[in-house]
This record gives sequence, structure tokens and C-alpha cells, in this order.
Amino acid sequence: MNATRSRFLDHCRQGLDTLRAEGRYREFARLEREADRFPVYRHEGRDVIVWSSNDYLGMGRHPSVIAAGQEALAAHGAGAGGTRNISGTSPLIAALEEELATLHGMEAALLFGSGYVANQAAISTILTSLPGFHVFSDAKNHASMIAGMRGLPGVTRHIFRHNDVAHLEALLASVPADAPKLIAFESVYSMDGDVAPIGAICDLAERFGAMTYLDEVHAVGLYGETGGGISERDGLAHRLDLIEGTLAKGFGVVGGYVAARAEVVDHIRSNASGLIFTTALPPATVASALASVRHVKGDGALRGRLAAQARLLKAKLDAAGIARLPSESHIVPVLVGEAEACRAVARRLLAEFAIYATPINYPTVPRGGERLRLCATPFHAEAMMDALVVALRSVLPRAALSRAA
Ligand code: PMP
Repeated sequence: MNATRSRFLDHCRQGLDTLRAEGRYREFARLEREADRFPVYRHEGRDVIVWSSNDYLGMGRHPSVIAAGQEALAAHGAGAGGTRNISGTSPLIAALEEELATLHGMEAALLFGSGYVANQAAISTILTSLPGFHVFSDAKNHASMIAGMRGLPGVTRHIFRHNDVAHLEALLASVPADAPKLIAFESVYSMDGDVAPIGAICDLAERFGAMTYLDEVHAVGLYGETGGGISERDGLAHRLDLIEGTLAKGFGVVGGYVAARAEVVDHIRSNASGLIFTTALPPATVASALASVRHVKGDGALRGRLAAQARLLKAKLDAAGIARLPSESHIVPVLVGEAEACRAVARRLLAEFAIYATPINYPTVPRGGERLRLCATPFHAEAMMDALVVALRSVLPRAALSRAA
């Protein structure tokens, strides 16, 4: 018997048993998207309404986005055929990067395989470029940003309380004035739907000589005159050093990027492993993303519909007395408060009402903060919303009862 293998297998089994016992074992439902029926999906042979899609505007099914992908697939083939460095950089990629730079009013942008990789690669590259960097990270930052700042030699990480400008100020004041500093935060927080005080954080960055890195993953395409995110909406993009975004949510495709000054982008392009040593995104994906960005930039009405849908969903939940977190955005979290109860709610919604809403459990949110994270896209009809409210009114009290028992 191989000693390491048997110890490791024991470790796997015990870990999985713990996850099951704590109600945190992740099951991946197999949901089949049908482009022309969004947000109706097929699940185990029947139709279900999905309330947990990050394709916030339904751009993944937009005819121009599908057509652009189909044309590029036929014209250029299935894969990029190389890393960016080795024959993988196409005119399509260059055009998408230019489009994204313009979207944020930045000099340049750099495309990555995903938003996760963009965060991990860009942040770690920045922090290892000058000796003695201090990074100031919001307590609710996404795992991909944390992956880019953890365990780097010579880098000190400071975690400020979520959206707490006074705490950030105290931490900034506690390090040597001449140390290089980066403040990393999000605009719309993915699990609570609240919004960062971007202007106040930029003020502190100026006062303490820090650079700023803003993750706008849950805001690009959705906020601002042209979909440039909260930083565009609030007229603050010019005060930020880097803006990071995804092509997977508001733009409905896949891919991530950072936008910044030309030298900063060139430095990351030249040094980030997560860019250099991986195959570029395929032409169909890039063409679809480009079509989506171009469409979304000009479609303020679509953004308006998303905002109206969020208002309507919140109003209906409130009228029905369903507890939700006070989100300022299109993300509508309905609190359940315990892992097994949260999973039971999701199971019943699916089994009894053909409604799919993902339970969000620890460690994605703190214990006690377990929730359903809902989002009404412009394609969710009002009758679907009413059916959701009826279903939640039936299922949530039963979860509370079983929790009390
Ligand atoms: N940042 C945040 C705040 C996110 O929520 C996510 C993904 N959910 C990412 C980055 C990663 O983006 P992507 O899905 O494009 O990898």
C-alpha cells in the first residue's frame, strides 16, 4: 500500500464527510440553457426558471453575440492555437482590448482567460514589482483577489473592515509613509449587493500615496452611461489606477481583463504568468465578447430594464414580508441563516416549484449569513416574479420551523 495515497484518500473522505455533515457539500445541478428561452432552463427533463444567473442582461443569448461567435468559429477555427506570446494574439483580441480600454476611459486594457485569472495575475504582478508592498484589502474581497495577494514574499496584507473608510485610514496611517501601497476593493459586492465608497477610498489613496485597484466584475455593462460600471456612473474612473472586469456576467460570455495606464498594462502583459503561460481565449469567444461589449455600450435601455427589475423584485419581496439584505444593486440576497436550511429551501424550490436559486453557504458568506442570491434579469417576466414570491412564502417558513425544532 502506498502510504501517502492512503493517507490522502482518508483525508479526502473525512473532508467530504465534514462538508456533508455541515450541509456545505456542493452539488452542481446540471442545468441546460436554451438560448431562445432564457431564463427558462431544462433540468432533469423539465423546465425550470433560473434566478441565479450572472448573465445579468441575458447577453449570452443575444442574436448579435451568437452570430459573431458563429462567424468567428467558421472563419478562424475553434482555438487560438497558442499563448498570447506564441501566435495566439489576434486582431480580434486587440480590438476587444481597445474597446475595453475605451469603456473605462483608460489608455489600455489586457484580456485574460477569466476574471479570476485577471485578478490573481494582475494583483500578484503588481505586488511583487516593488520591494515591501503593503496591500489593503476589503474584508469581503473575492477569492480571486485574495489569491493574488496571499503568501507573497515581502508583501504585507492588511484587511480593512468591509466598506469601512475609517478603518482603512487607520491601517494606511500605520505603515511607513514611503512604503508602496495598493488598495484593492470591489464596486458592487457580489454576495451582499452593496456598493463601495469609491470616492472616499480614492481620497485616502491620494492622501497616503497609495494606488487603487477596483474589481467591477458585478458592475461592468450594468452601471454608468456606457456600462463602464459604478466608477463611470459616479464619474470616478479617472481617479483609479486599475479597473478589473469580466466578460462573463453583464456581457454574458467569458474572459476577464484589467484596464489601466499603458505602462501598467504593458508591465502586467510582460510579467504576469497567468497571461504569458496559458493559451489565449478562442476566436469565437473573443468575437462574441466584442459584439456584446459594443452592443451593451449603446443599450442604456437594457441597463434601465435591469434596474427596474431589481426595484420590482425588491418591492414584491418586501410586500410579502420576505427578509432580504438591503442591497443597493441588482443583486438581491434573501437571508436564510443556516446552511442545511438554506439547502433545504433551494431543494424545495426546485422540487415543488421548478425554481432554481443557488444556496450560498460558508465560506462564500460567513456562517449565519447563508442566503439565496437572486437576480431578476430583463427577461424574467413579472408573472415569474410573482410565482417566485409565492414559492418563497411557502418554503421559507418551513425552513424556519425546522430550524427552530
Ligand atoms: N471578482 C468577483 C467579485 C467575482 O464575483 C468573480 C466571479 N464570481 C470574479 C472576480 C471572477 O470572475 P470570472 O467569473 O470572470 O472568473
